[in-house]
Amino acid sequence: MNRKHLATRYRITDGKDFRLKDYSPDDTWKLKSKEDAHKWLEEGLARLSDLQDRLYAQNQWSLLLVFQAMDAAGKDSTIKHVMSGTNPQGCQVYSFKVPSEEELNHNFLWRTAKVTPERGRIGIFNRSYYEETLVVRVHPELLAHEKLPSRLITKNIWEERFEDIAAFEQHLARSGVVIRKFYLNVSKEEQRRRFLSRLEEPAKNWKFSTGDLQERAHWDEYMKAYQQVVRHTATEHAPWYIVPADHKWFTRLVVAEVILETLESLDLHYPKVDKAKRKELAAVRLALLKKEAKV
Ligand code: ATP
Ligand code: MG
Repeated sequence: MNRKHLATRYRITDGKDFRLKDYSPDDTWKLKSKEDAHKWLEEGLARLSDLQDRLYAQNQWSLLLVFQAMDAAGKDSTIKHVMSGTNPQGCQVYSFKVPSEEELNHNFLWRTAKVTPERGRIGIFNRSYYEETLVVRVHPELLAHEKLPSRLITKNIWEERFEDIAAFEQHLARSGVVIRKFYLNVSKEEQRRRFLSRLEEPAKNWKFSTGDLQERAHWDEYMKAYQQVVRHTATEHAPWYIVPADHKWFTRLVVAEVILETLESLDLHYPKVDKAKRKELAAVRLALLKKEAKV
């Protein structure tokens, strides 16, 4: 089994003919159980840690991971597991909720543009500017709160937002931000089971909000909106991954593999130390050995 397939199998770089229903939420490729995945994940996380170290030291590229999904698809736990092997200093995680008053007083890319990852860092967006074409599309009344001049709200607004997002991602890519976007593809039935366990297990109660049930009622509209998102914004430099999300262990494995494959493609290396610098370091070492305060 070639693990590279784990990443390529779910990747969309051209969304023209994309149909969400071609992707099964409970797919686990050739793997049968959590145990099959365990070793791969352990190995993968060790490699990830090494690559992140080089990314940080090289300080040129950065990686932006965008997570989008329906409630209870496992965004939080996937982020937690996949990043468990990384150095927190090199990671920047942002969760985007309902926009604040200040955020609504700016263009819709403002709040995310402010926090794109610095060079050498891995940035994680738990939800993102894509919400502007998802929740806002499913609930058009939200648009009315965005304080846009009315003549700018036309039937083309979603197409325009896709164009803006594509241009923004192109700009980031050209600046050295490598973008990978994940749609955690959970089924409606698995979401029902997870909601039930949030209600039945006291330790999970806090995760449930009644609003989640209202969004569930709009399931089909969300699926349509997600399909449109992928159709319009999947590109070579910012691909979408439609990650099966009915089995959490498999979701983690796919996401980890995509991150690994991406970092491996960047030829990351520690900055080279030139002759002059080597000489300087040797002198410092000597001074330290002799317990001298100065070189
Ligand atoms: P959890 O797993 O903890 O429920 P979550 O990401 O669902 O995590 P919540 O605080 O429950 O976090 O929800 C955030 C809410 O904010 C979502 O319903 C989302 O659709 C909404 N939201 C995010 N961005 C926007 C936006 N630009 N406009 C309107 N609503 C937004
Ligand atoms: Mg929620």
